Amino acid sequence: MKILKEGDTKKVACNTCGVFQNATFQLRDVPFSDGSGLVKNVLVGVCDVCDSVAVIPHQSTPVIKKQLDKLRRPLEGRVPSHLIDILNLASDQLGAATDFVPSLIKFYIHALSKNEMPASELSGLLNSELAKGKATKRISLKGRYIVEEAEMVKASAHISSTTELLKSVVLKINDDILVRKRPECIKALESLVAATA
Ligand SMILES: [Zn+2]
Repeated sequence: MKILKEGDTKKVACNTCGVFQNATFQLRDVPFSDGSGLVKNVLVGVCDVCDSVAVIPHQSTPVIKKQLDKLRRPLEGRVPSHLIDILNLASDQLGAATDFVPSLIKFYIHALSKNEMPASELSGLLNSELAKGKATKRISLKGRYIVEEAEMVKASAHISSTTELLKSVVLKINDDILVRKRPECIKALESLVAATA
């Protein structure tokens, strides 16, 4: 892949002009075609004749993807406050601060969606005493795959609501990390803590 610099030029097919034109690569704010947002200051090829964006080079796609991810809806649910305490304690147990909590839940949802952990036991956890309580705190998770992965886990675990899924995942985290202190889970998560700290 050739890395382009600001000021580089290239002959490209300009859709606005309808012919091949010379384009100069420069930083521009580029709106999404559906008008839902704007990618700021991204390297694009601008037609020298009509001044429209004629080409988006490959090197600009990670920045654009990042911007698109920001627009994705988060995975959300309200849970009893003691479940947040469990997540904070589990993070602490792993040597992480409480800002590790979203990564911890996402790690579990990912592993469950890939069948690296059995999803079958999740619904049983919802019968525990800890699943009860007034839902007073919000869990909100952002990520490129989280909504999709959560849907997969819900289907395989036969859990219908996102809130119930989040509760069951927290109770599994409680079981693995705080109650049974399962070494294989703790080891994998400690590596993740080290990578994100
Ligand atoms: Zn043009």
